[in-house]
Amino acid sequence: MSYDVAVIGGDGIGPEIVAEAQRVLQAALKQYGKSAEFTSCLAGGAAIDAVGHPLPKETLAAAHKADAVLLGAVGGPQWDTVEPELRAEKAILGLRQSLELYANLRPIRVPAILAERSPLKAEKVTGVDILIVRELSGGIYYGERQEGAVQDGVEQAFDKESYSVPEIERITRFAFRAAKLRRNKVTSVDKANVLATSRLWRRTVEKLAATEPEIKVNHLYVDNCAMQLILAPKQFDVIVTNNLFGDILSDEAAVIAGSIGMLPSASIGSGTGLYEPIHGSAPDIAGRGLANPLGTILSAALLLRYSLKEEAAACLIEAAVDKVLEEGYGTIDLVQSGMTQVTTSEMGRLVERQIGKI
Ligand code: NAD
Repeated sequence: MSYDVAVIGGDGIGPEIVAEAQRVLQAALKQYGKSAEFTSCLAGGAAIDAVGHPLPKETLAAAHKADAVLLGAVGGPQWDTVEPELRAEKAILGLRQSLELYANLRPIRVPAILAERSPLKAEKVTGVDILIVRELSGGIYYGERQEGAVQDGVEQAFDKESYSVPEIERITRFAFRAAKLRRNKVTSVDKANVLATSRLWRRTVEKLAATEPEIKVNHLYVDNCAMQLILAPKQFDVIVTNNLFGDILSDEAAVIAGSIGMLPSASIGSGTGLYEPIHGSAPDIAGRGLANPLGTILSAALLLRYSLKEEAAACLIEAAVDKVLEEGYGTIDLVQSGMTQVTTSEMGRLVERQIGKI
C-alpha cells in the first residue's frame, strides 16, 4: 500500500529538513509493509522565483489530491520587498484557507535529555507531554473589524469575536478523539467570567463532556492557564481552546521545550492535513547542514497519526527520536557538553537507523 504525500520544501532550511523527514517517514512506513509516494511542489519564495506566485495552482491541486501535505518553511529576506499579496508567507495562509483547516495541533514534549535547555527548572519540565488543540478557522481573527472610525473626535476600533455551537463542537470532538489516543484528559480554556463567546464555549464543551465519561474534562480561564503552564506544565494532557487564546498559549508553551527546532505542528481540516515544524526558514543557517530536522521529522509522525491513521508508525518515529537524543546526539541548537554534534542529514540518518533497530 502506498500513500500520496505532497511535499513542499520551500525556502531557506526548508528543503534540507524536509528531505530528512521524507527519509524517516518512508523508513517508518516500511516497517509496516507500506510506503509513501512523494509529489514535490513549489511554494513560497522558490515559487515566486520560478513562476511569479507564492502558491501556484499546481501546488494547490496536488495538495487537494494528496493524502497529506508535508511542508518545510517559506520566506526569506530576498522576498520581503514583493507586494503584500505576493509575499512568500501568503502560501501558508492560502493553503490553510483552501484546505479548510480548522484545527491546529501543537504537541510539546520534553524528554529528560532536553530538560536542561528549558528556561524552566529541569525537574518541572522533564516528561512534559502536552497537546494544544487550537481552533483555527473562526473567532476574532475572522470576525468583523473596524479601524480608523472617529466618534466625537475620538478614534475607535473594534474586532468582533463570534463562535457557533457547531464550530465549538467540531474542535472539542477533535480534542476528545486526540485525548483517547493519549491520557484521556482535556483542559478547555476560555474566559467565561467575562466573554459571551467563552460562556457558549464552556456550555458546549460541558454538554459533549457528559457524553464521554471516560475523558476527564476541566476548565481553566486563559489567564490562569498561562500561569499554570509555567508553574506546573506536567498537569496538562490535551488543551483545547479558541483561535486567539490558542495562538498565544501555544507560543508560550513552545518555549518550555528549549529549542524551536524540536517542535512539530499539524493543521487538520475536513480534507488534506498540513504538517510543518513551528519555526521559519532560518535563512541565517540555510545550506550549511546546521538545521535541526527533528521538528519536521516529528511533524511527519503527526502526519502518520492524524492523516494516514498509522499510529504505530507515528509512535515508532517518536521513540526513535527520543532514543537518538538519549544517545547524546544533537544538532548545533541542542548540543551541550558531553553530547555529539551532528549535521542535519546525519541526524536524519540516525533516526532512520534507529527505526530499523526498534
Ligand atoms: P525562524 O524560525 O526562521 O528563525 C528564528 C531563529 O531560530 C534563527 O536564529 C534560526 O537560525 C533558528 N532556527 C529556526 N529553525 C531552526 C532549526 N530547525 N534548527 C536550528 N535553528 C533554527 O524565524 P525568523 O528568522 O523570524 O524568520 C525567517 C523567515 O521565515 C522569515 O521570512 C519568516 O517570514 C519566515 N517564517 C516562515 C514560517 C513558515 O513557513 N511557517 C514561520 C515563521 C517564519
